[in-house]
Amino acid sequence: MEDFTVISEQTDLGPRQFDLDRCVHCGLCLNACPTYRVLGVEMDSPRGRIYQMVQVAAGSPITPSYTEHIGLCLACRGCESACPSGVRYGRMVEDARAEIEARTQRPWLARQVRQFVFGRLLQSRSLLSIAGTMLYVAEISGLKALGRALGQMRLLGRFGDLQQLTPSADPPFFFSQIGRTFPAEGERRRRVAFMAGCIANVSFARLNEATVRVLQKNGCEVVVSAGQGCCGALHLHSGIRGDARKLACRNIDAVLDGGFDAIITNAAGCGSTLKEYGELLEDLPEYAEKARRFSGLVRDVTEFLAALGLNPRLGSVNASVTYQDSCHLAHGQKIRKAPRQLLEAIPGLAFHEMPGADLCCGSAGVYNVVQNAMAMQVLERKMESVNVTGAGIVATANPGCLLQLQAGVRLHGKEQRVMHVVELLDLAYRNYSG
Ligand code: SF4
Ligand code: SF4
Repeated sequence: MEDFTVISEQTDLGPRQFDLDRCVHCGLCLNACPTYRVLGVEMDSPRGRIYQMVQVAAGSPITPSYTEHIGLCLACRGCESACPSGVRYGRMVEDARAEIEARTQRPWLARQVRQFVFGRLLQSRSLLSIAGTMLYVAEISGLKALGRALGQMRLLGRFGDLQQLTPSADPPFFFSQIGRTFPAEGERRRRVAFMAGCIANVSFARLNEATVRVLQKNGCEVVVSAGQGCCGALHLHSGIRGDARKLACRNIDAVLDGGFDAIITNAAGCGSTLKEYGELLEDLPEYAEKARRFSGLVRDVTEFLAALGLNPRLGSVNASVTYQDSCHLAHGQKIRKAPRQLLEAIPGLAFHEMPGADLCCGSAGVYNVVQNAMAMQVLERKMESVNVTGAGIVATANPGCLLQLQAGVRLHGKEQRVMHVVELLDLAYRNYSG
């Protein structure tokens, strides 16, 4: 249990009362909750967590136990999809975490690490590039492979599991493409902005390139606006609301006035937050209207392409695929059909639905690092579902899920390939022979 000190008795923080009042304690969300399915404990279910939030709102102190149960939530929002009362659980848990962040103080070392990661690393292209280069050196020197091998042999304890989740560096980094405009192939159908993310520039540079190529193939002029940066999703999910708001303002200033038909992301977690800028900045007079406009333009790349209608010049990908719903796409943005529709449009690709496809894989932003033990249990169950499909490819729509599922394949899989839906489309376009 994490040690902390209460530093503020301020009470006008935390989940809004009208959000708390929506829950009628029916329990219909319990089976949709990955932590409840693993632990079977009411306090680690959506209903139990809401009950604890109600107690705190009524004046009960924030205790280490409360912090632990709220921290153990994946913020996957599976409970939102299951709830017949329209409980906005994702917003409530973000508010609860922001309150914990404001009213308590973590130990010195934890504060320094969080300050560095959230306050500096994720917001700085140069620091991310340095971290990516160091990671790359570890990879080519064999250090990373050694760490993973020792982890798989259970010789590194908890650090071994973290080793499985380390992202790969993917040089050349996508930062060099920020500020560029990529022309549409053929007749221009749309002009779009592409949000390249933060860590994705380093660890998913090839995915970002594939996304741009697929958009170009579909008649889009793609602008990777200069001045854009981290969307703030990781900050928001960790209760660091002030930084999330600052980053939202920066992205709005960088992108909004570019005359775009849409603002595209290939990361479901980022997309959820980008679509909620309107709410995040509703009380900032100079940004409220701009934030609403910005959010209104945001589209997940799968949602955008399915609505636009795919360029049909797709070659064959002769393989079998299953699809893992990214929580922030299925539950956060209510997009389930579009990625499946795109996969089914690829010639030769046989689609197999997995049981419980919309149950979280355990990635959940930085959850798999800070709550590693639970994340690995959730992942093991997910891989059982993946394995029963017999599919050779696991597709998903979020970089964080790609990392988590890659670790899942290494630990419990059958040598499946893990790919973003857009990477499969890109492969199909490259396979087209006319
Ligand atoms: S969150 Fe929704 S489904 Fe869960 S107990 Fe409350 S009202 Fe019922
Ligand atoms: S967000 Fe996910 S982990 Fe958290 S209570 Fe809801 S279903 Fe459970």
